[in-house]
Amino acid sequence: MMENYPSFDVVIAGAGNAALGAALTAAERGARVVVLESSPQEFRGGNSRHTRNFRCMHDAPTNVQTEAYKEDEYFTDLMRVTGGQTNEELARMTIRESPKCFDWMKSQGVRFQPSLSGTLHLGRTNAFFLGGGKALMNSYFAAARKRGITVLYDTEVIGLDIAGGVFRGVTVQQKKGEPFQIKGRALVCAAGGFESNLEWLREAWGPPAENFIVRGTRYNRGKVLKLLLEQGVEQIGDPTQCHAVAVDGRAPQYDGGIVTRLDCVPLGIVVNNRGERFYDEGEDLWPKRYAIWGRMVAEQPDQIAFSIIDSQVIGRFMPSIFPAIRANSIGELAAKLGLPVDAVLATVERYNRSVVPGRFDHNKLDDCRTEGLTPQKSHWALAIDQPPFFGYPLRPGITFTYLAVKVNCKAAVLMQDGRAARNILAAGEIMAGNILGKGYLAGLGMTIGIVFGRIAGEEAARAAAE
Ligand SMILES: Cc1cc2nc3c(=O)[nH]c(=O)nc-3n(C[C@H](O)[C@H](O)[C@H](O)COP(=O)(O)OP(=O)(O)OC[C@H]3O[C@@H](n4cnc5c(N)ncnc54)[C@H](O)[C@@H]3O)c2cc1C
Repeated sequence: MMENYPSFDVVIAGAGNAALGAALTAAERGARVVVLESSPQEFRGGNSRHTRNFRCMHDAPTNVQTEAYKEDEYFTDLMRVTGGQTNEELARMTIRESPKCFDWMKSQGVRFQPSLSGTLHLGRTNAFFLGGGKALMNSYFAAARKRGITVLYDTEVIGLDIAGGVFRGVTVQQKKGEPFQIKGRALVCAAGGFESNLEWLREAWGPPAENFIVRGTRYNRGKVLKLLLEQGVEQIGDPTQCHAVAVDGRAPQYDGGIVTRLDCVPLGIVVNNRGERFYDEGEDLWPKRYAIWGRMVAEQPDQIAFSIIDSQVIGRFMPSIFPAIRANSIGELAAKLGLPVDAVLATVERYNRSVVPGRFDHNKLDDCRTEGLTPQKSHWALAIDQPPFFGYPLRPGITFTYLAVKVNCKAAVLMQDGRAARNILAAGEIMAGNILGKGYLAGLGMTIGIVFGRIAGEEAARAAAE
């Protein structure tokens, strides 16, 4: 084995959006590139294959995005969701580079389409991949094949040979056989966060992590992240910070993807397993709030909650792949959901009594709200009184973690003494925490991945040529 893969210019750990962005860019600059991916070929593309869009700045309407979305508005949106926990230099650079990535992705064969309905109202801010993330990744892999990039599947990076902050090679493990080394002149770490590593999540979250559902790939176990931190790379972010949404409690442990997310939260009420509401379901527009509900459910007893809606709102949200649990009365629904019936009846009755009539409009912050209720429901509050009634069990669905390696705007990882590593770059989830200290802006994960992936590819090719 060792003789087959003795040495490459650029070694890339992972094969998602960030990795392929780096691989193709490095190959465009003439580097000999190897991409190492733990998953089998049929599961290639990591979390990136589950995506649908990326957030892209534009000064005027394009064929896939409406109106304009300029740097300052984009940055203001980011500051609002992160509460200022973002590196402004990296964030503004990411925003400014995003339109160039749009053009570059098209040059690699990626195709885009205008936003679909039911997609969190993102038609202005986000560019949608035609065929979703899987088609995006397939285009990248086809381009990689044409460029002669070597992609090794079922090949996990388990060790890094770094001396004095300089990368020399990786140790990999394939399904069969002994671990072996691949030498390289530069390394791009694009192997995701640690969201699929339940032991690590348990360290951060304690026992609640037992009930987390991983929305994406089972292979993002944080191995490369941990190896870098062990080698003295500076860490940034908090291990409990992550993107986590409410998913259907019946979703599989891994890879359920987008179809398990539940968007009906703002259209009804959400109760915990005591039958009690615990948060304002209508606090803000759903694209700005959907990513807090995973954490919210994680904080409830047994990490479970239940969304309760009535027939008035059916058709106003994208349903989960699992059918809603249906009943003709609230009492019957509570019993079917396994909830304390009297408590749910009292919660719904109290909520219905507090609803102030208004003009319902799901697309804006309307005036349908509650009065005298704790917690209040600030918008889209309609009495839940039109049978049949529907319920969905909700679980925390973790998308990706924010604990990251620190990088500079050249995508170089920063060592604990503040120096930038000469030939070690990072892109994607593994460094997204530099920009996302907390909160989330839909489509930013892919933007960070492709912007830093391309920079990392360019810098890796340059370092390899030195
Ligand atoms: C259901 C779902 C929907 C999403 N929708 C969107 C969206 O529409 N827009 C958006 O911007 N973001 C979205 N995201 C977030 C987005 O997927 C991530 O931000 C993005 O894909 C990260 O890209 P990446 O290249 O860093 O990681 P990934 O695409 O996850 O790639 C990392 C790769 O590294 C591999 N790997 C891990 N460890 C090793 C190792 N030790 N050795 C070798 N290989 C390894 C993994 O197998 C994986 O293939 C979504 C996520 C999910 C789960």
